[in-house]
Amino acid sequence: MACQVLDGKKMAEEIKKSLGRDIESLSARGKIKLVALEIGKNSSSGVYLNAQKKLADELGIEYQIKNLEPSISQDGAEKEISRLNNDDSVTGIIIEMPVPEAVRIERLLAKIAPQKDAEGLSPSNIGSLAYEKWSVAPCTASACLALIDSTGVKLRGKEAVIVGHSAIVGKPLSLMLLSRLATTTVCHIGTYERGLLEEHVKSAEILIVAVGKSRLIKGSWIKKGAIVIDVGINKEGDRITGDVDFNAAKSRAAYITPVPGGVGPVTTVMLMKNLVELYKSKRNA
Ligand code: NAP
Repeated sequence: MACQVLDGKKMAEEIKKSLGRDIESLSARGKIKLVALEIGKNSSSGVYLNAQKKLADELGIEYQIKNLEPSISQDGAEKEISRLNNDDSVTGIIIEMPVPEAVRIERLLAKIAPQKDAEGLSPSNIGSLAYEKWSVAPCTASACLALIDSTGVKLRGKEAVIVGHSAIVGKPLSLMLLSRLATTTVCHIGTYERGLLEEHVKSAEILIVAVGKSRLIKGSWIKKGAIVIDVGINKEGDRITGDVDFNAAKSRAAYITPVPGGVGPVTTVMLMKNLVELYKSKRNA
């Protein structure tokens, strides 16, 4: 069977349309507002901020970027979050990453009120994943799951392998896949160092790679008929590439996401989906 390329842009458009209808039906209850906290400036976050702003504008969501000085203290940044937590006009808060080294990101995330945590990254919302009850989940992990679900393949009992164990992608996704009874393996730098990455990837019926190393995963490692979700974003000269050698993997996989145009657009729309969820639960809508 020919490999099907999973079109993230198309999926994002469909989710966007349904969100648009939701937002319209809620419009009489007041504005939805997202505040993005940016500490200092970094070249990579500009791309995400622009994409988020564009989507928010299209959906009629108010989007405010709040710039904080790169030299701000931990205490100062936490106070700003408390202020936003207490501001009734703010529906959701996100922190653009990376933040300056002197700032402890996990402490900032812990400061965001769970009911305003639009990225689902606060300890409380991450913890809800372990109890298989969540209203908002980390956006990239949700995007991966939505793309897998779009294939119609049932997860129960499937061999799922995640490469990369970051707090924003690999770890939350592992809990989400476990909640669907996939047999879930998480690989990381330790797996690579022992030379066991290939063996694990070869066993994957569902493979998700979130590392940030171009072509780390060779096409010949892909199990025939696998679902391959490539989260990685890398620059190779002028080109953006994923972590999987796309062309070679495509000849073995049943489904694969492209980079760009796969996980990325779905991730951005999942942020707005979370925001609408937060708005609805605050208003019991
Ligand atoms: P991260 O925090 O740097 O995590 C990378 C993970 O990969 C870590 O768990 C790391 O392990 C592991 N790793 C590093 N080298 C490895 C190797 N050779 N073999 C196996 N595992 C290895 O990155 P992230 O934030 O999760 O992002 C990962 C990639 O996804 C990046 O390219 C990022 O730009 C992209 N991304 C895309 C989206 C999207 O919407 N499309 C969203 C988020 C991230 P150790 O920490 O133990 O070294």
